[in-house]
Amino acid sequence: ARASALEGSTGPGATKDGHRVPLLANIGGPTDVDAALLNGAEGVGLYRTEFLFLDRATPPSDAEQEDAYRKVLEAFPEGRVVVRTLDAGADKPLAFLPPPGEEPNPALGERGLRMMRRHPDVQAAQLAALARAATGLTVKLQVMAPMVTDADEAAFFAAACREAGIDHPGVMIEVPAAALRARDLAPEVEFFSLGTNDLTQYACAADRQVGGLAHLQDPWQPAVLDLVAPAASAGIPCGVCGEAASDPALACVLVGLGVTSLSMSAPSLPLVRAALARHTLDECRKAASAARAARTAGQARDAARAHLPGLT
Ligand code: PEP
Ligand code: MG
Repeated sequence: ARASALEGSTGPGATKDGHRVPLLANIGGPTDVDAALLNGAEGVGLYRTEFLFLDRATPPSDAEQEDAYRKVLEAFPEGRVVVRTLDAGADKPLAFLPPPGEEPNPALGERGLRMMRRHPDVQAAQLAALARAATGLTVKLQVMAPMVTDADEAAFFAAACREAGIDHPGVMIEVPAAALRARDLAPEVEFFSLGTNDLTQYACAADRQVGGLAHLQDPWQPAVLDLVAPAASAGIPCGVCGEAASDPALACVLVGLGVTSLSMSAPSLPLVRAALARHTLDECRKAASAARAARTAGQARDAARAHLPGLT
């Protein structure tokens, strides 16, 4: 069964009728590159840079950052690498960047881009290290900010990128306000990447770190799909880099909603590649419509699968 489930699992990502969907890897640093390449990643869709900053009292030096970024960038000479700027706070606390005051609800507090606006020097150093790391390489470097809420924040980040010599700025869409008003953010940046882990947490008001709420942290919730739709149809490329992308049926639904690339942990790539290869774009669209018409997460999953006959 495994062999047949993996049929069509080599080569670039595409639907059965040839609609291209680049399949990318989520990584935490240079040590994850081999697994990405082994599983046929066409690039990196989410480089979580926090790991470089964890467990230390001071930020890594400029040279240390540049070295780590370069190791990743040079592994994908023909692909793209999407680096996320530091997402400090909430579920990713960093010792040298504590929240400025008491935070009863850290997930709703100073984290991600909010923290970087308070420490523009940290953001500028990271962007400069990225620009230096990419110098002379053929890879397409894209850089995105986490926890962006509105068009002002998107414009702030894009300006900081351009000042640092980074030409392809984007933002994560993981706050419901940003998803609902994606059309307002789109003119400010080159691409979106949907962070469905946080988007689900915030849409369903269910803390992602509370295990007892797993049934509400389900990206099949029709409300989450309703938030994906406006981001995926705002007129700029829109990937998904949350866990949702690694569910073969949901990956097809996301493509049906207009998502243009999928990024996931490397071991999930072969099954998602095979699932896409077995369905046409039209089947993906029908699965997406059926899922959005459902009333619960479970019904959305069942309704989508009924339109995806190639899933095992
Ligand atoms: C997300 O929120 O979906 C995401 C990809 O980022 P993280 O899990 O690192 O918050
Ligand atoms: Mg997130």
